[in-house]
Amino acid sequence: TTFESFALDAAIFKAVQEAGFKEPSPIQQQAIPLVLEGHDMVAQAQTGTGKTAAFALPILSKVDPREKGVHVLVITPTRELATQVSDEIYMLGRFKGFKTVTVYGGSSYTRQMKLIEAGASVVVATPGRMLDLLKNNRLKDFNPSVVVLDEADEMLDMGFLDDIKEIFTYLPSSRQTMLFSATMPEPIKQLAKKILKEPKFVSV
Ligand code: AMP
Repeated sequence: TTFESFALDAAIFKAVQEAGFKEPSPIQQQAIPLVLEGHDMVAQAQTGTGKTAAFALPILSKVDPREKGVHVLVITPTRELATQVSDEIYMLGRFKGFKTVTVYGGSSYTRQMKLIEAGASVVVATPGRMLDLLKNNRLKDFNPSVVVLDEADEMLDMGFLDDIKEIFTYLPSSRQTMLFSATMPEPIKQLAKKILKEPKFVSV
């Protein structure tokens, strides 16, 4: 399989070439077509397998950053991972004009809200701060049609499961949802059942 064989947006394909990605990694080969088709997905993959691009390439291909509001929400367990994912989304989405905001605890609410309202279509967030923003009704035009949970098992270990479940009560029920996890402990399987609709399973 080659990157050319996927129906990626031309500006996204250009970023793949600029990044020097020669061929899709195994998780990308499996996930990209399914995400492009609009399926919900559970992906069992470790860090370093190219999992970020596996969801970012098809999502960024499908979403139009000129349409108002936040379209994509990625939830990650830590601020470090949120920053890494944001950087990768910037790298892969820049030729299509995507604006991405990273949202995490310990930094200014006002600044994060202002950046989101200045036209970000992608928000990468840690669970606690995301829930705060939603609970306090601080976000306008927040109806992400695509939601990604990254490193779900880490979120479980860090005690974020209840926050995650509560975040989902604020999200539109009509959405595409993806769950990435290196391992699949029972609470994550249960969570997947709750938040995903007829998911496809991929694993590397
Ligand atoms: P991740 O598993 O998402 O943390 O990705 C690990 C690293 O591999 C990141 O620096 C990516 O930019 C890079 N990467 C992702 N996909 C590919 C690919 N198909 N070819 C080469 N490098 C890649």
